[in-house]
Amino acid sequence: MKEPKKEFGLIRQIQRETSGPGQGVILGIGDDAAILEVPEGLHLVAATDTLNAGIHFPPDTSPSDIGYKCLAVNLSDLAAMGATPKWALLSLSLPTADPLWLKSFTDGFSKLARIHDVALVGGDTTHGPLSISLTALGVVEPGRQMLRSGARDGDLVVVSGTIGGAARILELIQVGEGHVDRHLLDRPNPRLGLGKALSGFASACIDVSDGLLADLGHILTASRCAARIETNRLPISDVLSDLEKEQRWNYQLAGGDDYELLFTLPACHRTLLDEWSRKLSIKLSVIGQVEEGEGIRCIAPGGEIFDPVRPGFDHFKSSA
Ligand code: ADP
Ligand code: MG
Repeated sequence: MKEPKKEFGLIRQIQRETSGPGQGVILGIGDDAAILEVPEGLHLVAATDTLNAGIHFPPDTSPSDIGYKCLAVNLSDLAAMGATPKWALLSLSLPTADPLWLKSFTDGFSKLARIHDVALVGGDTTHGPLSISLTALGVVEPGRQMLRSGARDGDLVVVSGTIGGAARILELIQVGEGHVDRHLLDRPNPRLGLGKALSGFASACIDVSDGLLADLGHILTASRCAARIETNRLPISDVLSDLEKEQRWNYQLAGGDDYELLFTLPACHRTLLDEWSRKLSIKLSVIGQVEEGEGIRCIAPGGEIFDPVRPGFDHFKSSA
């Protein structure tokens, strides 16, 4: 049930504390719906993701990090499509009407929104368990979008940044480890510049939210291909550097929440990787190759097959 008076106060506060009018916003927060102008000749791209307390972020996550992350994970989806973000809609379910909590939340949100010039144009505010649902809207030139279905035999499999770090940080928090640098988990960096650079070159792209193997699996299923991954080519995050290699591979292959881009690239474009990496200051690692067939083979340095112990994250796994 909504609490009418407090709800309106919160909405006014959100309106005050989030970034200005924004490009193409004919009508923003305050009416029954927003009106947006999609630039002529471009297609609208829409993505939505929900963050539930205790499931998508640890319950002690700061409101500012939650505000940042709810936008970051959605911008990451637009990045994977090769799109440019423009607008966002925010659906908030809050256990209490706390202006200080909200101030911190809008701080984190606005910080990322300003960087990518995203305008908050509407949403919904209700009373209930802490849950944040955000819809990001962006644009792409027709034909420049990247899909999951374009990977072909012989393409390189490439991942940006490092992977597995966020999953390790989450586990350290869960076992009560005192001084963990939570940055990788709480403040993922949506790779929008990279997504735009890749569009027109990458044959398929996805962002790594559920784990490398799970997300690569989505590309391969959609593309009807197989892949070979070489474990010694997986980029190593600092938080994994103290682990035995097999343990490290488990995090790298199966840990989620990294929000890096995983893409396939026709081998003829290989030389572009260095150029993108330099221009965008992003590490890009070729970790394997697309093959004919089905499934993913992970190959350890000695040539033997490595099977990770944890599959990617599945929200409905225990609720069959
Ligand atoms: P309605 O009842 O017609 O849906 P609301 O009272 O829920 O209208 O919302 C009033 C205005 O405030 C609308 O423009 C809505 O988009 C905006 N709004 C409500 N909640 C949020 C929020 N969490 N973030 C951004 N805008 C919001
Ligand atoms: Mg409403």
